[in-house]
Amino acid sequence: MHIFKEYKPFIYGFTIFVCGLSIGLSNLLFTDNKRSDPFDDDVSIKTAEDNNRPAPEPVIQNAPEEELRMSETLLLSEDSNTEVFNKEIRVKRGQGLMDALLDNGAERGDAFNAIEALSDLYNVRKIQVGQKLTAVYSPDGTLTRLEIQKDFDHLITVEQETSGYKSAVKELPTQTITRHASGIIDDSLFLAAQRQGLPQIVIVDLIRIFSYDVDFQREIRKGDQFEVFYERILSEDGRRVQEGNILFAKLVLSGKAVSLYRHVPEGKDFADYFHEDGQSSKRALMKTPIEGARLSSYYGNRKHPVLGYNRMHKGVDFSAPTGTPIMAAGDGVIERSSWYGSFGNYVRIRHNGTYKTIYAHMSKYGRGIKKGVRVRQGQIIGYVGATGRVTGRHLHYEVYMNGKQVNPLTLKIPSGIKLKNAQFENYKIAMTETNHLIAEAKSHILLTKTYARNLEVID
Ligand SMILES: [Zn+2]
Repeated sequence: MHIFKEYKPFIYGFTIFVCGLSIGLSNLLFTDNKRSDPFDDDVSIKTAEDNNRPAPEPVIQNAPEEELRMSETLLLSEDSNTEVFNKEIRVKRGQGLMDALLDNGAERGDAFNAIEALSDLYNVRKIQVGQKLTAVYSPDGTLTRLEIQKDFDHLITVEQETSGYKSAVKELPTQTITRHASGIIDDSLFLAAQRQGLPQIVIVDLIRIFSYDVDFQREIRKGDQFEVFYERILSEDGRRVQEGNILFAKLVLSGKAVSLYRHVPEGKDFADYFHEDGQSSKRALMKTPIEGARLSSYYGNRKHPVLGYNRMHKGVDFSAPTGTPIMAAGDGVIERSSWYGSFGNYVRIRHNGTYKTIYAHMSKYGRGIKKGVRVRQGQIIGYVGATGRVTGRHLHYEVYMNGKQVNPLTLKIPSGIKLKNAQFENYKIAMTETNHLIAEAKSHILLTKTYARNLEVID
C-alpha cells in the first residue's frame, strides 16, 4: 500500500499543471518557436527509480468496488493526503503501450482492459515513441484512469467504471492568435521566409497555395517580396503550439503583385484561396506537382537513358532529392497505387471525366494513399525515389487527357471557380476584415491581438 508514497511528487506536479492552465493566458503573447514540440510541456517528472522500480505488490486482490469509487472521489477533491496518484508516462523506444503501462505500475489485467477500451478511439498499434500518457492509480494500485493526447486539441480518456473501462474523447479548448511576416527575397523564398521567423510548415503551405499561380523554379527573382498573415493555435495553457491557416499571402514577383485570401464561399463546406477579383487560385491541375524540383526531361522524342534508343517520352521528369513530397496535381480519386513494372511505385489519379495524372518511381506512398481514396489538390501522395527502371531518383509525371498523354507544361489549364454576385459581395467583406486585422498586426511588432476561435476579441 505504501509503495506509492514516493509518487506524491506526481500529485503535486498535476496540481501545478492545473494552476498552469489558469496562468497560461498571460504567457500567450510571449510564446516562441522553441515550444513547438506538441508534447513538451515540462510536466513529467522523471527519476532514475522510474525505470528500475519493482512491480507493485498485489496487496488487495479483487478490491471491492466501494473502495474504488471512494478513491476516485478523493482524487477529484485533489486532497494531497490521499494515496491516489497519477503518473506521467512517456512511451520509450521499442515499447508498446502494454509495456509502457506495465513498466509504470499497472497490473497486466488492468492494462489489457484499459488498452482494449482505448483502442475504440485510438490506434494503439501506431503509438509513437515519446507519446505521453497520464495514468491514475487508486491506493491499491488499480489503474482507474488513462489519458492520452490524440492530437493537438483532442484528449482521450479511459475511465474505470463498474462495468469495466470506458473510453471517451474530449475536445480541448484552444486560443488562436495571428502573426504577420514579410520580407524581400534575395536567395530563395524559403530562406527569406525562414529569416523572418516563419515556421517551415507555414512556408510549405505558402508555396502550396501559390503553386497554381507561380512556377517557383523559374519565376522567383532577387528583390521579389513576400507577405504572410497566418494563424497560430495555442493550447489553453499556452504551452503547446500548432500553426494554423494562412489567412492572407502576397507575392510581388518582378514588380507584379499576386494576393490570395482564404475564404469559405457561401454554400461551400471548405475554405479556398481567392484572388482579389474572386477568382479561385485552384486550377484543374497544378503546373508542377512537386516543389523545389528541377525539370530534367521534357515531353517529346528523346534517347531513352536506360534502353538507349529513341522513343517518345510521354511525360516530364522532375529531378529532386529522394523523399521530396509529391502532391496530387488536382482533386480526384486514386485509381491505382501499387508497383507497376518499369514505373516502380506508381500512383494514378482520376481527376474528372477528362483528366488523369500518373506519378512514377516513388520511394514510398503518401499516408493513406490507396486505390479508391479521394485526394485533395496539393495532398501528398508519395515521395520521390528511384524505383522501377531508372538511372537516378526523379519523379516521372504524366497527364492524360481523354485517355491520351499530353504535355503537362503546355496544357491549357482550365481555371477554378470565380465568385460572383452575393458570393463575391461576401468575399469583399471578408477581405476588408482580413485587411483590417493585418493593419492591426502591422501596428504591433510581431504578435497581435489574441482572439478566440470564434473571432471574439478577448483581449
Ligand atoms: Zn520520365
